[in-house]
Amino acid sequence: MRNPLLVSTKCRECGAPIRYPEGAYTFRCGFCSSALRTSTEGRELKYIIPVRLSRKDVLLSVKRLITTNRNEYGGLKKVRHIRNIYKPFWYFKGMVYSAWAEAGKNKAELLSKLWFHTFQANTEHIPWLFSLGISSEVLTLEPYDSDRFREEGTVLPVTLNREEAEEQALLIAGRSARIAAPNAPYFRNFLIGERFFLLYYPLVQVVCSGEAGLQTLYFDGVTAKCVGGEEGGNALTAGQEENYHIKFLVHRCKNCGHDLQSADFDLFYYCRHCFRLWELKGDDYISRKVRIIEPSGKGKTFYIPFWRFAVEIDSPGTGNHFATVGDLSRFMKMGRHLLRNENPDRPLKFYIPAVVARNARAVMKLATRLSMFQKDVPLSGFSEFPYENILNVSLPEQEAVEMLEPLVFSVIGRADPQAVSFYKDFQIKTIARELIWYPFEDKGAMLADHYHDYYFPRKSLDIRAF
Ligand SMILES: [Zn+2]
Ligand SMILES: [Zn+2]
Repeated sequence: MRNPLLVSTKCRECGAPIRYPEGAYTFRCGFCSSALRTSTEGRELKYIIPVRLSRKDVLLSVKRLITTNRNEYGGLKKVRHIRNIYKPFWYFKGMVYSAWAEAGKNKAELLSKLWFHTFQANTEHIPWLFSLGISSEVLTLEPYDSDRFREEGTVLPVTLNREEAEEQALLIAGRSARIAAPNAPYFRNFLIGERFFLLYYPLVQVVCSGEAGLQTLYFDGVTAKCVGGEEGGNALTAGQEENYHIKFLVHRCKNCGHDLQSADFDLFYYCRHCFRLWELKGDDYISRKVRIIEPSGKGKTFYIPFWRFAVEIDSPGTGNHFATVGDLSRFMKMGRHLLRNENPDRPLKFYIPAVVARNARAVMKLATRLSMFQKDVPLSGFSEFPYENILNVSLPEQEAVEMLEPLVFSVIGRADPQAVSFYKDFQIKTIARELIWYPFEDKGAMLADHYHDYYFPRKSLDIRAF
């Protein structure tokens, strides 16, 4: 995904300075080539931007503010107190899908976008700093360490927990879609493949005294710009932030001990020595099997990972129950036409590309294409892993489960009253799930799926091989 902030740290093996993209769990030291991995004891990644201003810089900024804003700050005479403050922000990015249907307008729409945003994780202090500007995109972060930064200033505690933050992100992300369809009886937003982390932003608090008593000013700890003020000398009694350290470990195969390849945002790691595939889950490596759909083209093949789910779909309100290809074919638009050559008794299977890509729309289009034909494609068990042409997994299984609802909506494709009633209460039960690699013939700029006669630009999925 684009727009990474950079994290700067030191290699734990050789001490050389390293920079890696935010949100990445694994990375390589450019100096000693060690593959490293962050360990957070199962908690969110937390980063911090240290205050860049010296006391002299701060005094200069105050002076400049007073001379350029005489009307507002001309009465201030003396700086009483200077303190560094770190305010936490939730940083979010992921794919957003907004689905809605209105029977009256005969409209069923699915909007897709890649989205990122920040908003305050401490709502008690300096609440007018609700989110960080886009300028944060050029900043360098450091892994947060509670011991170190407790001494450098006041670290404000997180008052908005992860669940509340996710709910808020969902609301903000879907706002524009909701404006377009304010009265749609079916309207849902989905955040898929999101990366969530905490970012402690630096501020400098300056308490000044003057003709009208005490006044507190806040400066951006990086740009030295004044970001607001308040009457009185804010003593800021913040609670203790919990202990937190990011550890760095060597990124190694659990089976044979060889270094694994680091891969920014990916979640799976292939060992080229003992041919095992590992999923990094929390701080542990889980062994995963490799299943491959047999290639259908003659040329060079490119494999893209998919989460494939066997599902049953129920809508209690409309009495619909779909468990087989036949059940779905009667309900989906064009179903009888598209699925007439498929065995109607086969269980329903839905395909979700196991990737988070810049083009959220392309991801959904590919998922819809493979899922709407319900083809029985031949799986070749565990074949040898042709890792040269295999795309890594960046969408966790649970996130893929969340994507099933917009996908089913997209596959059904109807907007009549019966369909809208169905959307409003349908539930998806996953019966089986597996990770498979699906073959696409390499046609240069395009990739071709011969099972579905579908071509799409490889650029649209940010394709990188292992
Ligand atoms: Zn190193
Ligand atoms: Zn190994």
